Amino acid sequence: MGCCRLGSKSKEEVMAGTVLRFGLALTGAGRSCFGCCIGRGAPPVLVLSVRVLRLLPAAPAEQREVADLGALHAPAEPLVPRRAFGPVLAAEAGPGPLQADQVEFPFGRRLPCDIYWHGVSFHDNYIFSGQVNKFPGMTEMVRKVTLSRAVRTMQDLFPVEYNFYPRSWILPEEFPLFVTEVRMMKESDPSWKPTFIVKPDGGCQGDGIYLIKDPNDVRLAGSLQSRPAVVQEYICKPLLVDKLKFDIRLYVLLKSLEPLEIYIAKDGLSRFCTEPYQEPTLKNLHQVFMHLTNYSLNVHSGNFIHSDNVNTGSKRTFSSILCRLSSRGADVKKVWSDIISLVIKTIIALTPELKVYYQSDIPAGKPGPTCFQILGFDILLMKNLKPMLLEVNANPSMRIEHEQELSPGVFENVPSPVDEEVKVAVIRDTLRLVDPQKKKRKDIQSQTSEHVSETREDLLDAGPAGGPEYETSKNTEAGLPSLCLKQVFPKYAKQFNYLRLVDRVAALFIRFLGVKGTTKLGPTGFRTFIRNCKLSNSNFSMASVDILYIDITRRWNSMGIDHKESGMCLQAFVEAFFCLAQKKYKSLPLHEQVASLIDFCEYHLAALDEKRLLCGRGVVERRGAVVTCPTDGLEVPALHAPLLNRTAAAGKFADCRSHHHPGAVSPGAGRD
Ligand code: ADP
Repeated sequence: MGCCRLGSKSKEEVMAGTVLRFGLALTGAGRSCFGCCIGRGAPPVLVLSVRVLRLLPAAPAEQREVADLGALHAPAEPLVPRRAFGPVLAAEAGPGPLQADQVEFPFGRRLPCDIYWHGVSFHDNYIFSGQVNKFPGMTEMVRKVTLSRAVRTMQDLFPVEYNFYPRSWILPEEFPLFVTEVRMMKESDPSWKPTFIVKPDGGCQGDGIYLIKDPNDVRLAGSLQSRPAVVQEYICKPLLVDKLKFDIRLYVLLKSLEPLEIYIAKDGLSRFCTEPYQEPTLKNLHQVFMHLTNYSLNVHSGNFIHSDNVNTGSKRTFSSILCRLSSRGADVKKVWSDIISLVIKTIIALTPELKVYYQSDIPAGKPGPTCFQILGFDILLMKNLKPMLLEVNANPSMRIEHEQELSPGVFENVPSPVDEEVKVAVIRDTLRLVDPQKKKRKDIQSQTSEHVSETREDLLDAGPAGGPEYETSKNTEAGLPSLCLKQVFPKYAKQFNYLRLVDRVAALFIRFLGVKGTTKLGPTGFRTFIRNCKLSNSNFSMASVDILYIDITRRWNSMGIDHKESGMCLQAFVEAFFCLAQKKYKSLPLHEQVASLIDFCEYHLAALDEKRLLCGRGVVERRGAVVTCPTDGLEVPALHAPLLNRTAAAGKFADCRSHHHPGAVSPGAGRD
């Protein structure tokens, strides 16, 4: 879809008229899906239809309309207004003939819209305001290799907190490491008989995935060079239901990056294998219907059951599984709180790079738009009920129908109640949450969201049907179904903020990027970072700084990640930063070293900002000081420090320390 306009009427009308009354079951022309690009020649294109039929079966017939929301990129021919749908939901139809029950964009195609709903990615040069349903860079960030790297960085810092992601190696570059590590682990534990799963980067729907027992069975020839892959420890003991392996698809709304706002849908899908599970052996490794839970694969098995009931069949609601577990005495609150924690931690791993992409596409000072995005989290429950992250999908299918073969070669789309139950609510509530009218009530709302929970018990209480904002939504939107999307961040921020170290490293990186629109740091930017943060000294000369820059940048660029721009990418900068932290604060654990160095840098930069501010105001001159204030690469000599009003800088420093990890060390504690 291109765009839709919400909010031309009062909020109640929007909610009742559009989101609720018209529900949102989603049908792109001819493909019955939402959130997936419908080609028809023009990017980004129409994906959304709105209809009332399923959500409110009792709705009068005249309300049972379908409104297609169309492409932002207009077809050449002018639009002819056909039928007023009311200003509540104005839509621009995509290229191709309009159908009788479609509505058209009544205000002209180039008028700015409140919400732009893109099929695949953020990119669109003509959006300057409103909200876009995709973040720049998200598709790249959740690719298997990038996600594995981002999580690995967090695992280096916080191994226990990030043990929800299977041990992974990136191929081809880490193949030797993979072989060596596996050999060493086997030597130290001869009873360990692992299985590995090889997943091509950028693949989906089980495409190209295979299981191996021996590292040397990786198919290295040819394809890996052109298409890297992730090899991962295979989780051999998944939780089984009806003797079948299944995974969970959970929908997560990333509503905002800065400040971070995350919502999780209180129900998801459970997608089942179609052959009874057995632990992997050389004999059954190739049986995809036993080991891979992908719907797109299993639907082709003769055993796949399309059910009208959300509790049975090969695709069920996650809540039906939780009910079943609960009846067997399992602690489902704990399962749910572990899942929330997994989601928040994963997003914390993704945000640093997302921020780099964001400032590149929407540099500070450029008028809008803002972004939000629905993500699909694929999670596997282990036998002991521990959730493990399999992958994150930037463009999860919102299809609510499935194909049925009526006779050989003749297919028909039929409704899928389980998909509808889960997905309609996700779309409906996403629109409720990004409703532009809602911004007007932000003050009231922020009071609720600022209620940050402090205790572990709060997270444990976060069952799929609990939580204070659940009640609030009920009250303020009387008559509407309760929100299925549950805020988890900033609600639980206090429990997770200490993990956000790389975010702060990314903020330093962005500060020194210099040129607007770039994502890579040049050598001058890196030198300025070192100088401004006072990281160079007699043990670490500027020549060593240049060597560090060249070594790390060259290595990252040789991995073939992004050759479009030259320079140091964020991951390379993070690696350099970790090196510097280890050098400066030798005996601490890595996360404390990094936290200490961040504090140190932020402290010096705050002092520098303060000094620049004073220079700007001419305070220094008024005091008759001899200091001049260069605009760039400024170093404040210690001698002149008393000239500055350091209170604000120190206050800022204390403030930032209080938000971060308790183990953080003051700048003075640095050991060179
Ligand atoms: P795709 O994007 O191709 O679906 P996934 O990473 O989701 O790739 O993997 C496909 C399927 O393989 C998953 O749905 C899951 O059933 C299985 N799978 C993936 N990784 C693992 C793992 N580490 N352990 C066990 N099963 C896995």
